Amino acid sequence: MSVPLLDLHAADAECEQEILTAVAEVIRRREFILGREVHALEAWFADYCAARHAVGVSSGTAALYLSLLAAGVKPGDRVVTSPFTFTATGEVILRVGAVPVFVDVDAQTRTMDPQAVAAAFSSYPRITAVMPVHLYGMPCDMDPITAVARRYNARVIEDAAQAHGARYRDRRVGSLGDCACFSFYPTKNLGGYGDGGMVVCSDDAIAQEIAQLRNHGRVQHYLHEKIGYNERLDNLQAAVLLVKSSRLDAWNERRRRIAAWYCDALQGVGDLQLPETPVWAEPVYHLFVVRSQRRDPLMAHLKQRGIGCAVQYAVPLHRQPAYRERCIAAGPLGVVERLCAEVLSLPMHPAMTESHVGLVADAVRSFFA
Ligand SMILES: *Cc1c(COP(=O)(O)O)cnc(C)c1O
Repeated sequence: MSVPLLDLHAADAECEQEILTAVAEVIRRREFILGREVHALEAWFADYCAARHAVGVSSGTAALYLSLLAAGVKPGDRVVTSPFTFTATGEVILRVGAVPVFVDVDAQTRTMDPQAVAAAFSSYPRITAVMPVHLYGMPCDMDPITAVARRYNARVIEDAAQAHGARYRDRRVGSLGDCACFSFYPTKNLGGYGDGGMVVCSDDAIAQEIAQLRNHGRVQHYLHEKIGYNERLDNLQAAVLLVKSSRLDAWNERRRRIAAWYCDALQGVGDLQLPETPVWAEPVYHLFVVRSQRRDPLMAHLKQRGIGCAVQYAVPLHRQPAYRERCIAAGPLGVVERLCAEVLSLPMHPAMTESHVGLVADAVRSFFA
């Protein structure tokens, strides 16, 4: 019996009919652009994150890009982030003409090391923003990161694309910096039936700027205050997401239960390092990622036994061809390099059962036996 890395059919089978009805209703109304579903989703998500505003956009990447623009990041500025992330995080920094300053991550959380952030600020002038990435659903250690950013008058833009619902010291990600960016890509913890994204923030000016930029710089019908973009959240996607929104907490709870089963079953197996949760974090396990020095043969062994697995991420951004000549690799990036060589994502989705976890664990144990 095989266990897929993720199962988009099983994950939302419980609400598929409800989604089809909601989509049919939008089609019946022919209300496709910035319709009532977009506004309802924005209201729900702002409230969910305990923020004042949420602005629906066309993807997580658009959320990040428009956030950098709205935060006032200019060509030639520098932006601190982690190189251990999906390319979208770094891509948008280059796209606004700024220079990514990549810093090392903490080995326990696999997210930006606050001390490395502080060191980057003292080494490089003109850092105007920091982009912490809540990787795999684990919140960054935000207090020391925002403290150093404030000291240097830099903006904090959370990349929360993998962390809908995660909490840091009892606060939801999305309410921890100047603004936060979420993705509704189909595989994310809250995923649509296509692309989608959201910027969440409590700063009225940033929210207004993003709402304008996503819609051609428009202030009212055929009045354009600035040059903007077409980066709106699709109303059909909003209808899908609105149905799913009421399940997000239950699905995240399932993910935590699955993670706990994994940790019970895999404790002390081979040289495996399991994810660890700091006392201040409530993660949402977008991915369940273990480490092994024998990662590649382990992955081959699992795949041969029908266990889906993947490496997120094998090449850090500072070593990607698109970035190499255009970024600053700040300080030693040894933890990132080791993670790239050792991380392995095991199957994780809310519909997994304890027996699925057992099958994966048996296959892992048989490798180390
Ligand atoms: C998925 C993802 C993005 C980009 O989101 P899209 O909706 O695919 O544009 C950005 N950052 C991280 C960390 C992601 O995982």
